[in-house]
Amino acid sequence: MNYLKLSNCELENELKILLEKFEEIKKQNFRLDISRGKPSQEQLKLSLKMLDLDITKDGLDIFNYGILCGIPDARLLMSVILGCGSEDVIIGGNSSLCLMSDVISFFFTHGVNNEKWDINDTKFLAPCPGYDRHFALCEHFGIKMIPIKMNHDGPDIDEIEKLVSKDESIKGMWCVPKFSNPGGEIYSDCIIERIAKLRPSSKSFRIFWDNAYSVHELYEKIEIKNIFKEIKKNNNENLVIAFASTSKITFSGGGISAIGCKGDNFKSLCKHYSFKTIGFDKINQTRHVKFLTNSAKDIEESLRKHMLKHSEILRPKFNLILEKFKLNFCKNPILSWSKPKGGYFISIKTFGSAKKIVQLCREAGLVLTQAGSMFPYNLDPDDSMIRIAPSYPTLEEISKATKILILCIKISAIEKLKNHAS
Ligand code: PMP
Repeated sequence: MNYLKLSNCELENELKILLEKFEEIKKQNFRLDISRGKPSQEQLKLSLKMLDLDITKDGLDIFNYGILCGIPDARLLMSVILGCGSEDVIIGGNSSLCLMSDVISFFFTHGVNNEKWDINDTKFLAPCPGYDRHFALCEHFGIKMIPIKMNHDGPDIDEIEKLVSKDESIKGMWCVPKFSNPGGEIYSDCIIERIAKLRPSSKSFRIFWDNAYSVHELYEKIEIKNIFKEIKKNNNENLVIAFASTSKITFSGGGISAIGCKGDNFKSLCKHYSFKTIGFDKINQTRHVKFLTNSAKDIEESLRKHMLKHSEILRPKFNLILEKFKLNFCKNPILSWSKPKGGYFISIKTFGSAKKIVQLCREAGLVLTQAGSMFPYNLDPDDSMIRIAPSYPTLEEISKATKILILCIKISAIEKLKNHAS
């Protein structure tokens, strides 16, 4: 049924039926929170064996202070995930977001290339819809965000080139190049090549290349252009600082994280960290190396085997939601949705009623990510986008949640259409 073709009277009738269903659902006391992209219990269990590995024979160095940038094998492991050389890697604690926050605050307090960012006048380019915590970090530090349109093949590069070449106060840009959060976009070769060629007017402009989902395929393997090779080709190696972690490979509460960067960035950050710590957790680094790299002849193959297990758990959850959307909306253009090939999220574009849908779902016991949060300052200009995180719930819970979501999407669209007509 195409709501756009219904008369007011037909819309009224349809709404009545839907509202009855909604009241029924509310009585069922359903409770589910799918606001964040957390791995499920089943996924976390895939890595429990890591805790049984004997690491006491690996030499006592790992139990002591020191080895600031991380043990060599952990740097090698994370270099495969980041796409840089192992000599370019600094291993951190359990969170890559924490490293991003560190880099921002280091650049304000001490700078890079002898140039400090100005706390009163620093801007970031923010491709959106994007990752809410990136935007929250900017707000926390008082960094002004400039929204950049996100297309299916990456952010609007014409706009980026124009802005960075003329505004010296633009110091950074967020990029999640593979399976972006929340739309699952994959940056095309052409976009990556042009990003690597950027010549910003500020010498301390840096791209925050958050490669959080570089090995998180749901279906077939997908390769993107290696940003480090591209910046090298363009003699532009200071441009990029890359981040990643094993939060969605092993434990989201106990993984290892890493920064990958070259030249001046690497020197500056090593210096900053030499004041901040005498070394991160090498026991956990060793566990990760043993667990993730010992089951095949090479690291990539070993990681792939492990991530295949994650994808087997995640795929049916994504498929279920995508199939239900297709069934309900292929002929009813009040909704469009992303069809991600990897990562952790599905994003939906509603009929200008994201806030209303999130509120209705909450009344029915389903908690979604706050509407607007995928945009800087929570400002979704069309009030249309919602992020769905299918990873944590069971299939049964997802089935119920999708029913509720679809019902709320339909109710809100009819209410909007009726308002337009009247
Ligand atoms: N970056 C992106 C794009 C993410 O989606 C997430 C987790 N949702 C993170 C970073 C957080 O990573 P970490 O657990 O390493 O802090």
